[in-house]
Amino acid sequence: ETLFTAIPMAPRDPILGITEAFHADTNPNKINLGVGVYYDDNGKVPLLKCVQEAEKRITAQGSPHTYLPIDGLPLYDNAVQKLVFGEDNIVLKEKRAATVQAIGGTGALKIGADFLKRFSPDSQVWISNPSWENHRALFEYAGFKVNTYPYYDPASHGVDFNGMIGTLKTLPARSVVILHACCHNPTGADLSDAQWDEVIEVVRDRKLIPFLDMAYQGFSEGIESDGQIVRRFSQRYSPVLVSNSFSKSFSLYGERVGAFSIVAGNADEASRTLSQLKRIIRTNYSNPPIYGAKIVATVLSTPELHQMWENELTGMRVRIHEMRHKLADELTARKYGEDFSFITRQNGMFSYSGLSAEQVERLKNEFSVYIVSTGRICVAALNSHNLNYVVDAIAKIL
Ligand code: PMP
Repeated sequence: ETLFTAIPMAPRDPILGITEAFHADTNPNKINLGVGVYYDDNGKVPLLKCVQEAEKRITAQGSPHTYLPIDGLPLYDNAVQKLVFGEDNIVLKEKRAATVQAIGGTGALKIGADFLKRFSPDSQVWISNPSWENHRALFEYAGFKVNTYPYYDPASHGVDFNGMIGTLKTLPARSVVILHACCHNPTGADLSDAQWDEVIEVVRDRKLIPFLDMAYQGFSEGIESDGQIVRRFSQRYSPVLVSNSFSKSFSLYGERVGAFSIVAGNADEASRTLSQLKRIIRTNYSNPPIYGAKIVATVLSTPELHQMWENELTGMRVRIHEMRHKLADELTARKYGEDFSFITRQNGMFSYSGLSAEQVERLKNEFSVYIVSTGRICVAALNSHNLNYVVDAIAKIL
């Protein structure tokens, strides 16, 4: 018996598995719609101009590679706070928010999870059914029991709001509820403003702990509009936990830039909380990496680069909207009488297509079109060159 005797093989990541199969496929027409990445119309991951410009400026400064403070680059934390909560948010004026730089959105979720486990160890976690596939594992590995609340309604391809709110109304105080702030992954189905108000109401009534995960700010309607829910929550309730990511919105996937924020009831609570977040970071990885944070901080704090970024982000958003409409129109044209308009009502990079695991398998085997077995399509991987091929393939197997 050695240490290794009892170590089983861990399950493969389902999405990385698709990518491996895709790379091994020799069909020249192959298309990978299983990814969670935005591609431009030429099928390339974009390098944003605002990022390139910021990189030039950073290189020109010739700064040494020092350590950052435990909670990250101050210019970054500041700029992120303004972006996520809104510059004129009373919560910032009252110094009730603590924000720390994190290793992507995933790292932000983990800081939040570790913090909650330490200070609310008996809480249970509730995620949407379905949710981003890493939510469950991340909170389980942090030591929580993870449950699901109803979310997706296959009949309408939208939200089963009655199911969701009905479950939230039964949760004990301090239950941690993970909510997708916008562009729900994997379904693309978001709550309406009125439904969000009801959620806030129930969270307040039952004294739940809301954890807003915002990985796609700017991909639904725009930075301002997509951030509304974080603003509204933070002004009406505390605690509110927020993880945000710049992986998609800056196309900075591999630089791992994100942040974790928490809104407390007053400045004293916020500063005690910040001191504990720093302990969590210090004992995990000491302090965060510098390069991506410098890029984002430079862009966000330089008005002309900030504007350039918003324009480029708008470009990505508009292209996805166009692909949604083309996909829906073309499918409708080939499958006369069927309603695909739900694709245009969903938000962000993904669409829950309603395709079964069997149909997904046929798309792969017969057409080399790769989709997650749940039927999640990455609309952001469609482009004017591959759309018709995809539509033909889907129309044939439907
Ligand atoms: N939350 C959700 C809902 C996501 O879809 C993702 C992945 N894009 C993340 C968090 C993690 O983001 P990151 O890649 O920045 O760690």
